[in-house]
Amino acid sequence: MTEETKKATDFGADVFGEEAIRTYLSKETAKKLQATIREGKPLDPSIAGEVAHGIRHWAMDRGATHYTHWFLPMTGSTAEKHDAFLELKDGEPVMQFSGKNLIVGEPDASSFPSGGIRSTFEARGYTAWDATSPAFIKRHSNGATLCIPTAFCAYTGEALDKKTPLLRSMQALDRSLKRLMRLFGVAEAHTGCTLGAEQEYFLVDKEFWKKRPDLVLTGRTLFGAASAKGQQLEDHYFGTVPDRVLSFMNDVERELWRLGIPAKTRHNEVAPAQFELAPQFEELNLAIDHNMLVMDALRNVAEKHGLKCLLHEKPYAGVNGSGKHNNWSVAYGGRNLLDPGTNPAENALFLTMLCAVIEAVDRHADLLRASVAGAGNDHRLGANEAPPAVISIYVGDQLAEVLDRLEKGGGEKARTGDAMKLGVDTLPAIPKDATDRNRTSPFAFTGNKFEFRAPGSSICCSGPMTVLNTIVAEAVDRIAAELEKAKVAGKAKPGQHTPAFHVALQRILQASLKEHKRVVFNGNGYEPGWLKEAARRGLPNAPDTPAALAALAKKENAALFEKYGVMTRRELASRHEIFLEEYAKKVRIEGACARDIAAEMVFPAVKAEYLETVQALVGSEKAAAAAGATALRASAEELGEGLDGLRVGIRALEASLAGPDEAAILADMASLRATVDALERRVSSARWPLPKYRDMLFLY
Ligand code: ADP
Ligand code: MG
Repeated sequence: MTEETKKATDFGADVFGEEAIRTYLSKETAKKLQATIREGKPLDPSIAGEVAHGIRHWAMDRGATHYTHWFLPMTGSTAEKHDAFLELKDGEPVMQFSGKNLIVGEPDASSFPSGGIRSTFEARGYTAWDATSPAFIKRHSNGATLCIPTAFCAYTGEALDKKTPLLRSMQALDRSLKRLMRLFGVAEAHTGCTLGAEQEYFLVDKEFWKKRPDLVLTGRTLFGAASAKGQQLEDHYFGTVPDRVLSFMNDVERELWRLGIPAKTRHNEVAPAQFELAPQFEELNLAIDHNMLVMDALRNVAEKHGLKCLLHEKPYAGVNGSGKHNNWSVAYGGRNLLDPGTNPAENALFLTMLCAVIEAVDRHADLLRASVAGAGNDHRLGANEAPPAVISIYVGDQLAEVLDRLEKGGGEKARTGDAMKLGVDTLPAIPKDATDRNRTSPFAFTGNKFEFRAPGSSICCSGPMTVLNTIVAEAVDRIAAELEKAKVAGKAKPGQHTPAFHVALQRILQASLKEHKRVVFNGNGYEPGWLKEAARRGLPNAPDTPAALAALAKKENAALFEKYGVMTRRELASRHEIFLEEYAKKVRIEGACARDIAAEMVFPAVKAEYLETVQALVGSEKAAAAAGATALRASAEELGEGLDGLRVGIRALEASLAGPDEAAILADMASLRATVDALERRVSSARWPLPKYRDMLFLY
């Protein structure tokens, strides 16, 4: 790092990265560790002792007294259990951290969701060092902890976390790509997936947050009448960031830079009080860990600014929700396979990958949908500001035309755009810079990567990325198998192909496109007509989490994950169970919280308003006032009806909370909300027990 960069950012100062490795480890050990990190090679156990020693010294030089294995349990957040370096040896206090401490941990796993994989009597879980994601320092106001990213599994080796299947899916994609690349005559190399996760979030003043039990307990407002001004004027998006927020963002970025996270872009989002942070993309596994730290930093730093960061997908009704666009790509030997090349051989490879992704997404739209399912995202997907729950692919008009020509055969110049050199008769040319933007598609090709827009703002990217890697691994594998069958490879020089190869490839891709092009949709995904059209095309539409999660119970999906070594049947079944349970619990927490707010806060406020109104009415009648009695009587009627309505709504919600059906709870919450939100407009602001949307949404 240059002095200039160091001075401006302190980038990576709290990461055990290249520089720290060079300083704190011997040359030989450093080399071995770097091989593990760069190429994903298994760690040589003989160096663990020295690495641990070096890491401890590095961490202590930065004020750390404790260490923790840091992992991604099935809760969707991160987990840590700290141990001090301090140990008593023959009564003498010493600082210690062994190779074993570094490589494995045995946290009690009994309180993490396991979906039946691990019963509580065999409580052990194991954390294993993932050397491909570097150790880092987590600071708090008066100390620091060394964090070691790990995978977390049961003693049977079954995954209890979100990282293990991800790493396996990356291996699966690597195996498939090696098979394909051999046929393309590309020298064997390492597959590297990349992810750039754009993080959207809301900020709210902490004083308001404290007064909203719904925000405190569920992360979203369960009640709240719309603010007169919301996002109608479209004046927030890319607007001037208020000073208070900019100061917050600055602190977040400083913290992230120290952690080696390349926070790059910051801006106001569409809804008032909504913002975005986008990092520069990184290797997938690292980018996922980093996004977890981004969410941590947003939450922690907000506290210091008297703010709360809301990562919920839909904190406020009536304004946009928050997503986390997953920009994904795959490179082989450092070359981005989704970058349309400049020579015919590269075009062939690019088109093959494009077709593979289309095939994968069409075959397994149900799994992609399941991978983003959750109680929070249900309020976002399918609403008019987020991608629909139907998974389709946007490729843009120019690429659509290329695909059309590919399918129909013939290598004529594409009609629109600046066609690249043709070179190969049978493959169509690819227009340069076919990067039109479409904001309504859940899965969009954006020039040299795909942008999966359905993931919600609070999600751990591992789930969707594991699915994406796996389904693309399958499609690539299938195409490679067909090419092998055609026996056309290896007859030309590396990187060049015989006409027979191209004919075979074109035939394979044509067949794939014919079967799967129904998933390509370049129109406006928000138009109601699209849902009808999607149904006509036979694309699945899972409107809510339970419907979406059903994909995880399908035999063929279990077979897919098992075939590619990503998850066993049991692991997949456990995830299905965990996610369903998490959904049910979240809905029930929301239901109970809505009941409490309605019964304990709203009802008494409305009652007081009613009483006051009735008293005023009695007073005006007694005084035989000439005017006002009519208004007071009408108002008392309305408030009285409101009270009756509240009582009915609360009773109904209590009944559904006692029953087995989460959908009934959600329906009763919605109708109770309608009653409460209408009353909010009838009761004096001074008396209303909850901060209002108009208070919370404007941070100036
Ligand atoms: P937009 O809002 O137009 O989608 P942004 O700049 O906000 O664009 O976000 C784009 C994200 O995509 C960034 O995180 C960027 O680093 C990432 N990205 C760019 N190229 C790749 C790639 N090859 N693989 C993965 N992510 C990428
Ligand atoms: Mg974007």
